[in-house]
Amino acid sequence: MSMFKDIPVEVGVIYEGERIRRNDMQVELGGPTIKQKFELAKVKPMNEVDDGKITIIGPDLKDLKEGGAFPFGILVEAAGAKLDAGLEGVIERRIHGYLNYIEGFMHLNQRYDIWIRIGKKSFQKGLNSFEPIGKVLYRLFKSELPIIEKVQITFITDPAKLEEMTPEAMQAYESRDAKARGLKDSEVDTFYGCALCQSFAPSHVCIITPQRYSNCGAISWFDGKASASIDPKGPVFAIPRGEMINEEKGEFSGVNEAAKKRTMGEVQQVWLYTAFDHPHTSCGCFEAVTFYVPEVDGLAVVNRNFKGAAVNGLPFSTIADSAAGGRQIDGFHGMSIEYMRSKKFFAADGGWNRIVWIPKEVKEKVKDFIPPELVDKIATEEDAKNVDELKAFLKAKNHPVVAKWESEAAPEAPAAETTAMQVNEEAAGTMMPVATAGSLPIMAGGFKIILKDAKIYANKVIITTVKDNKDKR
Ligand code: SF4
Repeated sequence: MSMFKDIPVEVGVIYEGERIRRNDMQVELGGPTIKQKFELAKVKPMNEVDDGKITIIGPDLKDLKEGGAFPFGILVEAAGAKLDAGLEGVIERRIHGYLNYIEGFMHLNQRYDIWIRIGKKSFQKGLNSFEPIGKVLYRLFKSELPIIEKVQITFITDPAKLEEMTPEAMQAYESRDAKARGLKDSEVDTFYGCALCQSFAPSHVCIITPQRYSNCGAISWFDGKASASIDPKGPVFAIPRGEMINEEKGEFSGVNEAAKKRTMGEVQQVWLYTAFDHPHTSCGCFEAVTFYVPEVDGLAVVNRNFKGAAVNGLPFSTIADSAAGGRQIDGFHGMSIEYMRSKKFFAADGGWNRIVWIPKEVKEKVKDFIPPELVDKIATEEDAKNVDELKAFLKAKNHPVVAKWESEAAPEAPAAETTAMQVNEEAAGTMMPVATAGSLPIMAGGFKIILKDAKIYANKVIITTVKDNKDKR
């Protein structure tokens, strides 16, 4: 792109989806080890924005120690005659897309959870200051969203300044989310879709409805509406809701058609209010994952910030890996925290009556949206650290799933060998599948089963010869 001639590295869509491994990174900004981090867009009056101004508060990129992780904030302040605060969420989410166009720049997640890595090679090529990064953002905002007439960008690495600004950012996110609460899916005839994460998860498309927030938690139905109207050719698009096929599961003809079209036929059917059968696809930047706990026939939630092992013995990273990549995995569901505040939150699966375990931090955040009689019946890490403890807790509290155990015969006590699967945080990142294949065919009983993008993990692998098996028969 000629408008980036003075930028020391290349800028273009081909760099979207680029991953930077720890060994290849110059520095990390935000990320899982850092508390102070956010990105925020604010719409301001014309006279309060100095067009093109880039400010750096705290040490610049070149002054950050190689290999370190640092507190980080990005503030984008925009002005324009047709801009209003309703567009702040849209502008803010574009930060992710635009920064990922930069060669050797990886931006993951959103809002209070950003995770950035700058690659060593790009740093050595001259990407050693936030100044050129700000210029790229500035130029892309101006060219891609002409509704923005003026924009100024601030990068913050000073921990004290971040501390001071964080409450304002958190307040802005909350007021955006609160605006979308109350409106029902049945009251609108248009939903919105977002394909921004397809660079990382090619068969993923977010379906954003008033009662089902985007996976990243950064785009509400109102944001989707605003984004599709100011930039109809952008990553967010309108989906005519179409015919209601299944009210309970949340199946709509317009959603199925849009999913088919935008995923090149990979996803044919989406059920919006369930984690089973045809759940919404999971990209990679979801705030939390819901996973089925078969031993208690319930659903548990683990969020990105949760440290250590969830109740099934696995950390967030491993559970997220089981769901991510734009797939529909039965019993797994990447989602936003805001979806937990929706009346349609896994409504087809029993809603909150089916939730058995959530991290304490998440429970605190959504407490007001949990039916009061259930609040004490849902376990956290303080109540249950494994499935056996969870079972005992649910029974003692008479959680609604317990009645299901009794009516459908008590769930099997899991074999000790499988429940005791202890995976520590360190091991989780390096846990190797015993088999990985883009397309793995299995021949069985006259059928051919093809597992696409398969990764198979096993506690134990037993290899016997065919002859051995025949001998045993
Ligand atoms: S998670 Fe969904 S809404 Fe958020 S950026 Fe990705 S595709 Fe868009």
